[in-house]
Amino acid sequence: MVARSSTRIFGLVFTSLGLASIIVALSNAWASGVSFLDLSALNVFLWANRFNIGFGIEFEPIYLIIVGAVTILLGVSLLACRTERIEEVTVITDDVTATLECTFCGYQWKELFSEKQLESMGFPRNRKISRRKCVVCGRFTRPKIIEVRTPRAF
Ligand SMILES: [Zn+2]
Repeated sequence: MVARSSTRIFGLVFTSLGLASIIVALSNAWASGVSFLDLSALNVFLWANRFNIGFGIEFEPIYLIIVGAVTILLGVSLLACRTERIEEVTVITDDVTATLECTFCGYQWKELFSEKQLESMGFPRNRKISRRKCVVCGRFTRPKIIEVRTPRAF
């Protein structure tokens, strides 16, 4: 949960930093009277000018654009990886409630399974699941699946 939200925050921060540096470079060009429609003039400005970020550090605005683009890509991929993880979680939480019955005493109880788990046990062909101890009669049984309910509406 913490990892997921920090990935999202980093993604957003990187994306906005990247956008900000591109906007800074372009607004500098605009402030110097370079029209964005004049691509060659913009190109000359981006390569020829020095952009001062203070502390005596200067670089051409084109690097601001390149770094900005890379940072946006990084941010977007972080956001995308977060989306992927959410999908994964959705699969895991695809839980079904199974009503199980002890084959000895007929005691019934409910257990949560993921759909994948049920599939791997051979359900619905195989309606018996792995051995477990019945809490009522205390015997080891392979309980029978009586009923399976999905919490989803469809
Ligand atoms: Zn039992």
